[in-house]
Amino acid sequence: MASGSQLEAIKRAKVLMVGAGGIGCELLKTLALSGFRDIYIIDMDTIEVSNLNRQFLFRQSHVGQSKAKVARDAVLKFRPHINITPCHANIKDPEFDVEFFKKFNVVLNGLDNLDARRHVNRLCLAAEVPLVESGTTGFLGQVTVHVKGKTECYECQPKPTPKTYPVCTITSTPSKFVHCIVWAKDLLFAKLFGDKNQENDLNVRSSDGTNSTNHTEDVFERRTDEDPEQYACKIYDHVFGYNIEVALTNEETWKSRNKPRPLYVRDVLPDNLIQQNGSLENSVTEESVVSSMSSLGLKNPQDIWSLSENSKIFLEALRLFIERRQKDIGNLTFDKDDQLAVEFVTAAANIRASSFGIPLHSLFEAKGIAGNIVHAVATTNAIIAGLIVIEAIKILQGDFENLRMTYCLEHPSRKMLLMPVQPFEANKSCYVCSETPLLLEINTRTSKLRDFVEKIVKNKLGMHSPLIMHGSTLIFEAGDGLEEDVVANYALILDKALAELPAPVTSGTVLTVEDLHQEFSCNINIKHREEFDEEKEPDGMVLAGWIAPTQKDARIVSNGESTSAAHPAVTEMVEKSDDVEIAREKPGTKRKLSEMSEMIDHVHDIKPCSSHDVGDQVHPQEVEDNDDDDDIVILDENPETRKKKRLQ
Ligand SMILES: [Zn+2]
Repeated sequence: MASGSQLEAIKRAKVLMVGAGGIGCELLKTLALSGFRDIYIIDMDTIEVSNLNRQFLFRQSHVGQSKAKVARDAVLKFRPHINITPCHANIKDPEFDVEFFKKFNVVLNGLDNLDARRHVNRLCLAAEVPLVESGTTGFLGQVTVHVKGKTECYECQPKPTPKTYPVCTITSTPSKFVHCIVWAKDLLFAKLFGDKNQENDLNVRSSDGTNSTNHTEDVFERRTDEDPEQYACKIYDHVFGYNIEVALTNEETWKSRNKPRPLYVRDVLPDNLIQQNGSLENSVTEESVVSSMSSLGLKNPQDIWSLSENSKIFLEALRLFIERRQKDIGNLTFDKDDQLAVEFVTAAANIRASSFGIPLHSLFEAKGIAGNIVHAVATTNAIIAGLIVIEAIKILQGDFENLRMTYCLEHPSRKMLLMPVQPFEANKSCYVCSETPLLLEINTRTSKLRDFVEKIVKNKLGMHSPLIMHGSTLIFEAGDGLEEDVVANYALILDKALAELPAPVTSGTVLTVEDLHQEFSCNINIKHREEFDEEKEPDGMVLAGWIAPTQKDARIVSNGESTSAAHPAVTEMVEKSDDVEIAREKPGTKRKLSEMSEMIDHVHDIKPCSSHDVGDQVHPQEVEDNDDDDDIVILDENPETRKKKRLQ
């Protein structure tokens, strides 16, 4: 029960809630029931059927309507006298500027993507409004607090990025089911149904890294008179049979690995079975979604199909694509909501897994992995929403000493499922909340301004309407409201090399990059560098500027009280997804993350294969991070960047 002073603070508070989804529904309800009376809620999304299982303020009849508005109406039914202002809009819209943020006592985030989180962080810093930030992934979740001048900001630590696998693990030496999924989805599916002009690394590599399959192009090209079923069998034999045979000729690769088994249609499916394969005529007359499962009579997506069932699905799905979805071929990218695509990818991944002696998975599981899905858990959202409100009340009372970041764990750690930690001190080299300049190594003679704007300013720094200054000279700006001739002029300048700009950017130049909307600016020291490693530095430029803060013993806090530093580093964060940070018990001992990491231990990007990878065992830990992404993934962070200093 709230105390008198708490109630006063709650009643007076003006709260901005960003996001009315999984966490947002719980949060709005908890705020209303805790006595909050003035809540502004922004969400750009409309309600979808898939939200209804956990976003409990919404009903079937609300599908298609604004989340913010329906959430308000639902809560007003049981708290009719409070003031909730809904706004169906994007938090990044210019109307939500610093002045807008200043109207609130606290901002509560229930967002689902990194980009919006960074944006809100910057506006909160500029408006000096405390931010309570949150995220959940399955059973895991966290609430963090960010108060300017008192704690770190949301961006004080580099944010995690998707994990990538060397391309040779995917093309030649898969050891996990996820490798087979990536192969089926990003290589085979893309090759057969996607843009033909896209580069594709489907072919098996030989020891020198070159393709040894000379007739590959002919195989994937279907002659117009070619029978779809024959074509499907030809593809099957090529990718699961012939390519594996070729791979086996490279004996070096298999010295320390189990050899894969080539699979051919004639062995897996005796002739009579091929004849029974599918009943297309039946499915043609149906109005339902094109599905090889239904035409083969397989119903339960949680069943694990046998090799022969997977083979039948593969052939049938490929035939259905050709006969029923010819117009899509050439434009398709994998979509987890495309039933036939999921069936095809599941079957292809399973056949490959079978060949490499990797356990097979059900369509349901394969879909989760291929679609980067971690199934949401309503209870986690409810717990996190409760924790957000607890921290918000402390902020409103000015009780900054007792602020806590709390991690919701999947398995108890020292009998705790909720792990509270004192907030961290601001990172003195944070380019967002400190004035430390960044260092950019770049080839100023060959890199274009466009590369700098896209790869660094927008992608790495997360600016939307950047303005780039060289001393007092304005080099470039982007955003709404610019004159046409100005825009045309900038379009020309974008294709100039940095050193060729009217105000040349060379080694030693200091650029100031600003986003006026975010009221965020930082300086970048430019250092010319002639060459970059194509594999390790694919951007052709390297942005540095993070100085790892020194590590101090962790202070573990239970029920708001400080305990001794008897368990140093208990809360060291080593693995993160975009939405969640996972605590590790001791360095080197992994928490039981098996189920979770199996689901999310994957990528949709494949990094180039370096020469030493061929023939060596490649561990997932050796892979590198990629650019920021919003999908739910997990990765190992550079140990240098994860040392944190606790707020004293
Ligand atoms: Zn910061």
